Amino acid sequence: MTMAVCIKCGARKIGAWTPCHICGFRLEQIEDMARAAALSDHLQSPEGLRAAAREIKAGTYAFEEEQVAVIMKDLEADPKLVERVRNLRAPPPPWGILRLVVRLIIVTLMALWAWRIFEQWRM
Ligand SMILES: [Zn+2]
Repeated sequence: MTMAVCIKCGARKIGAWTPCHICGFRLEQIEDMARAAALSDHLQSPEGLRAAAREIKAGTYAFEEEQVAVIMKDLEADPKLVERVRNLRAPPPPWGILRLVVRLIIVTLMALWAWRIFEQWRM
């Protein structure tokens, strides 16, 4: 699992190239993809990521343009990867799963209740 920071709003996210679940920013340009890769735990320490997130939120973050240029070259050599990144969808928000679990519990309780009534009625 890759920890990364959104290059637009500074939110923490999982995966350097996934769309941001806070601001919805999607990576379209190769330059943005390279910047996003530079802001992942592959290339940054956890402290570095935290500092970058703070600076992006404050609007003072400066990317290391040399590092970004190197990553851009790699990406330009791999158009298939670039295409895949462009088509990435945002992961479902965690409360989606929670809601599903709650719904399952409610359905189970209702089934048990119906079964009890049925048993009483039979006797
Ligand atoms: Zn964002």
